[in-house]
Amino acid sequence: MLNIQAIPALNDNYIWFIEDTDTRRVLIVDPGDAKPVIEAIEQQQLIPAALLITHGCHDHVDGINQLVKLYNTPVYGPKKETIPSINHPLIACENLIIEPNLPEITILDIPGHTIGHIAFLINDCLFCGDTLFGAGCGRLHSGDAKKMFSSLQQISELPFQTKIFCAHEYTQANLHFAEAVEPDNSDIQQRIFDTAALRQQGKPSLPSTLTIELATNPFLRCGQPNVIQAAEFFSGKQLSTALEVFTELRLWKDRF
Ligand SMILES: [Zn+2]
Repeated sequence: MLNIQAIPALNDNYIWFIEDTDTRRVLIVDPGDAKPVIEAIEQQQLIPAALLITHGCHDHVDGINQLVKLYNTPVYGPKKETIPSINHPLIACENLIIEPNLPEITILDIPGHTIGHIAFLINDCLFCGDTLFGAGCGRLHSGDAKKMFSSLQQISELPFQTKIFCAHEYTQANLHFAEAVEPDNSDIQQRIFDTAALRQQGKPSLPSTLTIELATNPFLRCGQPNVIQAAEFFSGKQLSTALEVFTELRLWKDRF
């Protein structure tokens, strides 16, 4: 059986642990800080099997060297980004097997936040780094709007029940923006309520599901008439494609 847990790190990052409960071997996603990882491993007596890296931002990779020194784990990450410690460079593929006891992994290329950003799909769990967030999406650093839009399209075509494991706790702030875009969307209102309840108990707002994101995340709703209207109002011009709507929403969010 798999046990997935969020290890809070830095300001608002989550380092995801994917543990095979029979062997206690654990895959560690985006260790931006080694300290909380080492603490959790020691407390729970886990055995690190591999590090999985979605992209090269420092808050996703800064813990790698210390963990490799300590545990001698292999490091899997994007081929298209310069991350020196990666010894298993990846591009989109299916059926990646790290160890026989660990589940097969599908790699998705999802550039946009950064140019070589990848995601790890394990059963129905998507580890999408800084591409899709709860009710939001990543900023455009080395990627661009067109790439990000098509990566989000690719994610939105996964099965509805797919669980979304993002790398940051941004959901509440993102929902304020979602509400500004769609003030009459009752799913957004419900999610604001549900998320506040989770956060008050000190629990992560994640994982969400693709169903929830499709109903509440403005960046996955660029074809909805009310989202188009809001983006047109923001930009002061008529927008004829979903990509144009996405591009304006991203600019709007950057200034929000
Ligand atoms: Zn990033």
